[in-house]
Amino acid sequence: MSLADPVERARLALLRPALLREAAFVGGEWVGGDAGIAVVNPATGRTLGHVPDLGRGDAEAAIAAATAAQPAWAARPARERGLLLRRWAELILEHRDDLARLMTAEQGKPLAEAAGEITYAAAFVDWFAEEGRRTYGDIIPGHLANARIRVEKRPVGVVAAITPWNFPAAMVTRKAAPALAAGCAVVLKPSELTPFSALALAVLAEEAGLPAGLFNIVTGAPAPIGDAMVEDPRVAKFSFTGSTAVGRMLGGRAMGNVKRVSLELGGNAPFLVFDDADLDIAVEGAMLSKFRNAGQTCVCANRFLVQAGIHDAFVARLADRADALGCGDGLAGAPDQGPLIDARAVAKTMAHVRDALDGGGRLLAGGSVIDDVFVRPTVIAGVSPDALLCREETFGPVAGVVRFGSEAEAVALANAGSAGLAAYLFTRDADRAIRLPEALRYGMVGINTGLISSEVAPFGGCRQSGIGREGSHYGIAEFLELQTVVQAVG
Ligand code: NAD
Repeated sequence: MSLADPVERARLALLRPALLREAAFVGGEWVGGDAGIAVVNPATGRTLGHVPDLGRGDAEAAIAAATAAQPAWAARPARERGLLLRRWAELILEHRDDLARLMTAEQGKPLAEAAGEITYAAAFVDWFAEEGRRTYGDIIPGHLANARIRVEKRPVGVVAAITPWNFPAAMVTRKAAPALAAGCAVVLKPSELTPFSALALAVLAEEAGLPAGLFNIVTGAPAPIGDAMVEDPRVAKFSFTGSTAVGRMLGGRAMGNVKRVSLELGGNAPFLVFDDADLDIAVEGAMLSKFRNAGQTCVCANRFLVQAGIHDAFVARLADRADALGCGDGLAGAPDQGPLIDARAVAKTMAHVRDALDGGGRLLAGGSVIDDVFVRPTVIAGVSPDALLCREETFGPVAGVVRFGSEAEAVALANAGSAGLAAYLFTRDADRAIRLPEALRYGMVGINTGLISSEVAPFGGCRQSGIGREGSHYGIAEFLELQTVVQAVG
C-alpha cells in the first residue's frame, strides 16, 4: 500500500489515474515488492508514491522474459513492429497532458516543458516505427568468381538500458523505440528519482499491444540491477545515459563481457559568441540552451565564451533576461523554471557559484536559492577558465562568462577539458561557421541556435561524453548486428 502524501496525489489530478503505476513491469506482468522506494516531488518535498525496490533476481527474471520474447518479435515483418510502435506513439500523444503532469510532479520541470518533452519522446517512437523498415543490407562483389557476398542486419537480441532523471520520458523512448523497431527486446532501469514516467510509458506500450516480455521496466536501487545488466550473458547490448563516472564504470564492465555498449554521458558545452554575432539571436539561444530544465540538460551551455567587442552588451542583456525568469512549483502556476532535482544538485550548483565569485567573477543576476530548491537563474561575468563552472558540468541554471580576444583563443578554450558532447557558435561570418565546427572536438555543434536535438538528427558525443549515437537512422544501427553471408555458387 502506498504511503503517498494525499495532498501531492490530489494535486496530480490525472485524467487517467491508472497512468500512475506503483509497480514494475516484468514479462508483461505488473509486479510489486516488499520494500518500496519513495518518489518525491522536488518542488514540494512531498512523497508522490513508491515503486518496488527490485533486486538482481528480478532483473534476471526480466532478462529471461526478454530472451524468451525476442525471437518471435524479430521474426515479425518490420512493418508489423512499426504499426505497434506507431500506435504506442499515438497513445503517448493522446495522454500528453497526464504524462506531462506526472513528469512535472516527479522531476520538477514546468508543465509546458514537460509537455514538450512528451512530444519529443513520442517523436522517437514515431520515427523508429518507420525506420525499422529501412535497415537495409548490402551486396558486395565476390572475391572469387563463384563467391556471392551479402551483408544482412540482424537485431542484436536483448538490450539492457539505464536512463537518467533529467529527461524521464525522452531518454526512455530514444533507446526503447529503436531497439524494438530493430527486433530487440528491452529491459530498462529508469532513474529511481523519476520512475513514474517510464512506467506510464509501459502502461501505454502494453495498451498499444506490445507482446509481453519485450519492454520490461525494472525499478529499484541501481547497483544490483546494473550488475545483472552488465554481467548476464543473455544481454547482448548495454545502453546507458547518465553521468560520465557511472557510464565509464558500467560500460567498462559490460565491454569486459564483450557486450555491445552505447554511452550517452555528461557534457560541458562551450557557447561561443563572436563580435559579428546577431546579439538578439545569441541571447535568445543562450536563454534556451542554458535555462531550459533549470540547466539540467547534458547539452546545455555550461561555459559562455564571449568576444571582447560584444561582451558587455551580451552579458547585460543576458542578465536582464535571466533576472526576469520566475522560479516555482510547476503544478502551481506557470513558472519559467522549476526546482533542481535534489539538495545535492543545489549544493553542487552553489559551490560552483561561490568558486566563480571567489575567483574574481562579478555576479550580474541570481546567485541565491529560494526555499532550498529553486536556484535563481544566475549570470556571472569575468569567470576564470580555471573555475569549476568551466571545468565541470554544473547541471544548474548558472551562466559563467569568460571574455576572449581571438578566434584561436576561443577554440583553445572551447576544446579544453575532456567533454565532447555539444558546442554552440554564434556568428554571421559564413567562413567562420564552416571553419569552427572542423576545429571543435564535439559530437554536435549548434550554429546560431541553442536547440540542436530532434529525432531526425544523430545525438551523441565524443571524447569522455560517450560512444554511439541516438535518434536518426544512425540510432537504429546501435541495435543491429551485421551478418556477412558468403555463398559459393555451383
Ligand atoms: P547518474 O549517472 O547518477 O545516473 C544515471 C542512471 O544510472 C540512473 O538511472 C541511476 O540510477 C543509474 N546508476 C547510478 N549508479 C549506478 C550503478 N552503480 N549501477 C547501475 N546504475 C546506476 O546520472 P544522473 O544524475 O541521473 O543524470 C545526469 C547525468 O546524465 C549528467 O551527467 C548528464 O549530462 C547526463 N546525461 C547525458 C545525456 C546524453 O545524451 N549524453 C542525456 C541526459 C543526461
